[in-house]
Amino acid sequence: MTATENLPPHAIRRVRHETRRRRLEVAEANLITPRMKRIVLSGDMDGFVSLGADDHIKLFFAAADGTAQMRDFTPRAYDVAAGTLTVDFALHEAGPAAEWATAAKVGDMLDLGGPRGSAVVPHDFDWYWLVGDETALPAIGRFVEELPPGAKVTTAVAIADAGERQSFATKADWTALWAERDTAGADDTAALLALLDARPFPAGDGYIFVAAESSVARAIRARLLERGHPRAQMKAAGYWTRGLADAHERIED
Ligand SMILES: Cc1cc2nc3c(=O)[nH]c(=O)nc-3n(C[C@H](O)[C@H](O)[C@H](O)COP(=O)(O)OP(=O)(O)OC[C@H]3O[C@@H](n4cnc5c(N)ncnc54)[C@H](O)[C@@H]3O)c2cc1C
Repeated sequence: MTATENLPPHAIRRVRHETRRRRLEVAEANLITPRMKRIVLSGDMDGFVSLGADDHIKLFFAAADGTAQMRDFTPRAYDVAAGTLTVDFALHEAGPAAEWATAAKVGDMLDLGGPRGSAVVPHDFDWYWLVGDETALPAIGRFVEELPPGAKVTTAVAIADAGERQSFATKADWTALWAERDTAGADDTAALLALLDARPFPAGDGYIFVAAESSVARAIRARLLERGHPRAQMKAAGYWTRGLADAHERIED
């Protein structure tokens, strides 16, 4: 008997994992869009488990002073048998993760730990909205790809320009909305809200995932709650905070 059999409809299944630190080697490093670098790591993936699309792993980077800096990233894809783990890095100006990813080349090594746990969102919702910026694209992409055929999903993602759009292999009924800063303006909150406010919630029970810069995620969550979306059917997270290093948060009341 699996844990899911006893869960009520729409229940998020939480699973803890044994975790250990691993050292993996960069096997591939390619820009999938001008500002998103896909790194395929290779090595001992024995025991690696990631059951939730928005799971995170801890990556360890050496800072200039020799100390280790940890940053959270999404396991975009993995294959234990093949010994591979794919991570997509949104490239930005500064920070140990962005600097490492910008320079990363085949043969480089990376230490990581986790995921420590997964929150598995069930596929029994009538619809899904996935909202965020480029740091959320790995989780959003994984989410869309994992949804079953015909599932209704809309994504709304803030990106620099049309060159950052991504396409996901999915049989779900996927509507992709993009807020491109070069035309929509630099304010992600306003641009994303403009996309969302124009759309009534579909009929039935929906699940909403929001992950973006902290103030953006907070504002979007507030608007969706104001529009009447149930708290329990939404997860909002600040994946980074403007002006602060390694600053992320789960947004709750
Ligand atoms: C659960 C979770 C999953 C995540 N998954 C991914 C992922 O798969 N891919 C991914 O790219 N990111 C992901 N992120 C976001 C990532 O952890 C942060 O962007 C992190 O701050 C990057 O570390 P850094 O060392 O590059 O910059 P930091 O040292 O943390 O920050 C340095 C400066 O850069 C700014 N900054 C940080 N991130 C950005 C950004 N994206 N754009 C512009 N400025 C920024 C900070 O405000 C700070 O001023 C995830 C975060 C969480 C919490």
